[in-house]
Amino acid sequence: MTLLARLRDIVGPAQVLSNGDLSAWELDWRRRWRGKALAVVRPGSTEEVAAVVRVCAACGTAIVPQGGNTGLVGGGVPDASGTQVLLSLQRMHRVREIDTANLTLTADAGCVLQAVQEAARAQGLLFPLSLAAEGSCTLGGNLATNAGGTQVLRWGNARDLCLGLEVVTAQGEVWSGLSGLRKDNTGYDLRDLFVGSEGTLGIITAATMKLAPLPAATTTALAACATLADCVALLGLARQRLGAGLTGFEAMGRFALDLVVRHFPALPNPLPAAPWTVLLEQSDTEGEAQARERFEALLGAALEAGIVSDAVVAESLAQSQALWHVRESIPLAQAEEGVNIKHDISVPVSRIPAFVDETDAALQRHLPGIRLVNFGHLGDGNLHYNVQAPAGVDGRRFLDEQEHAVNRIVFDAVAACGGSFSAEHGIGALKRDELAARKSPVALKLMRGIKAALDPQGLLNPGRML
Ligand code: FAD
Ligand code: ZN
Repeated sequence: MTLLARLRDIVGPAQVLSNGDLSAWELDWRRRWRGKALAVVRPGSTEEVAAVVRVCAACGTAIVPQGGNTGLVGGGVPDASGTQVLLSLQRMHRVREIDTANLTLTADAGCVLQAVQEAARAQGLLFPLSLAAEGSCTLGGNLATNAGGTQVLRWGNARDLCLGLEVVTAQGEVWSGLSGLRKDNTGYDLRDLFVGSEGTLGIITAATMKLAPLPAATTTALAACATLADCVALLGLARQRLGAGLTGFEAMGRFALDLVVRHFPALPNPLPAAPWTVLLEQSDTEGEAQARERFEALLGAALEAGIVSDAVVAESLAQSQALWHVRESIPLAQAEEGVNIKHDISVPVSRIPAFVDETDAALQRHLPGIRLVNFGHLGDGNLHYNVQAPAGVDGRRFLDEQEHAVNRIVFDAVAACGGSFSAEHGIGALKRDELAARKSPVALKLMRGIKAALDPQGLLNPGRML
C-alpha cells in the first residue's frame, strides 16, 4: 500500500488532501514562503496523530506540523520538494477540561487561542496569553513558538503559562504529561524541552495551561512621550505605582502610528502625533473607578515630571478595546504599506533608548531615507524593530537587496547590547543561519544533541531551526 493510502486508512480519505489549491497550508501568512506538500493530513485525535507519525517514520517521510499558519519565520509550511507531509492540527480543537479550583485548562493543540480565552472567560477566569493573531493561531502553535504577546509583562510567555503537555514523539509514541501541577521535580523537565521547539522535537497534541481570576476592571491609557528614554522612565513610574496591576506597556513609534492612520483612517487617533506613544493597560481587582483614579494619578505625576507631554484614559471598555485595536493594527498596516524586513529583538530595557538611537543612525548611514516601523512590548524589552524601504522604493526589491546587510547592522547592535535576535517569533527557516552564526558552539552542540536523541531520523520539521 502506498503512503497516501495508508494515511487515508488512518484519518479517512476526506482528511488527506493532495490535489487542488492547498495554499491555505502551503503559503505562509507573510506570503514569503510557498511550499509544496506531498499531502495535507488532518488527524482528528491524538491516536490518529501517533499513527500518522508511525507510518511516516516507517517510510522515512518528513512531517511539518502546523496549527493556524500565522507563524512569521517560515517554520510551519512545507519546503518546495513535494515530499513532506503537512500535518495540520486544526481539527483537534476541543477544550477538554477546566478545573476551576486548580485554575487550569486542558485543551487540544488545535484550539484557536481566542476560543481558549473565551472558554476560560465563560467560567469567570482569565487565560492571559494575548496576541494580534489570536483569532487564528492555535494553542499548539503558541507553545511550539513560545509565543509572547501583550501580557508578558504580568503573566509571562506561553512557557510560563504551561503546566503540562501531551506530545506525540518522532517515533509515534504518546507522552502524556498533562499534569496540572505547579510543583514537580521528578527528573528532566520534558515539557520545557518541547515548548519553543518549533515542531522539531515532537508534535504537541494537547496542553494544560494556567488560568487566573478575571480582573474586576481593565483600563487603558495612551501617553505621548518625546523620547524613548521618557517611555522607559514612564515604565519605571508605572511599575512603582501600579505594581502587579500594570498588565500592558506597549510603545509605538510615530511612523508606525502614521501607517495605521494612513491605512485604517476609521480607527481612533486621540492624541496629537508624537515621537512615541505608549499604550498602558491596568487590570484591577477592585473596580473601574479606582483603576481610573490610579491611572490619572500616575499620568498626572508623569506630566508634572515632564516625562509625558499628553495623555488620555479610556472612558469605557469599548474605548479600551479600540485603543488596543490601533496597536494591533500596526502589523496589518505595515503589510498594506509593502513587504519589509521584520525583527523581533530584545535587549535589556535600560539599554533600549541607546540601542534605538545608535541603530537608527547606523541604518540611515547605510541607506538614507530608510524608514523604521518601530513598536512593541517595551515592558519586556522587546521591540518589533522593522525596517521599511525608503519612500518610492519597491518593497520586494528592497527585501531582496538589503535584508542581509540590514540584518547584520541590527543583529550586531543587538549582540553588543547583550540582546536576542529573536525574542518572540523563533527561528524557523528565516533565522536558521543566524542561529548557527550567533549561538555559542557549546549551545549549538547541546541543541543538536537533543535533536538527535529525540528525532534520530531527522523527520520532524527538517531544515528548520537547526
Ligand atoms: P503555525 O504558524 O502553524 O506554526 C508555527 C511553528 O510551530 C511552526 O514551526 C510549526 O511547525 C510549529 N507548530 C505548530 N503547531 C504545532 C504543534 N501542535 N506541535 C508542534 N509544533 C507545532 N508571536 C508572538 O510571540 N507575539 C506576538 O505578539 C505575535 N503577534 C503576531 C501578530 C500577527 C498579526 C501574526 C500573523 C503573528 C504574530 N505572532 C506573534 C507570531 C506567532 O508565532 C504566531 O501567531 C503563533 O504563536 C503561531 O501559532 P500558529 O498556530 O499559527 O502556528
Ligand atoms: Zn510581538
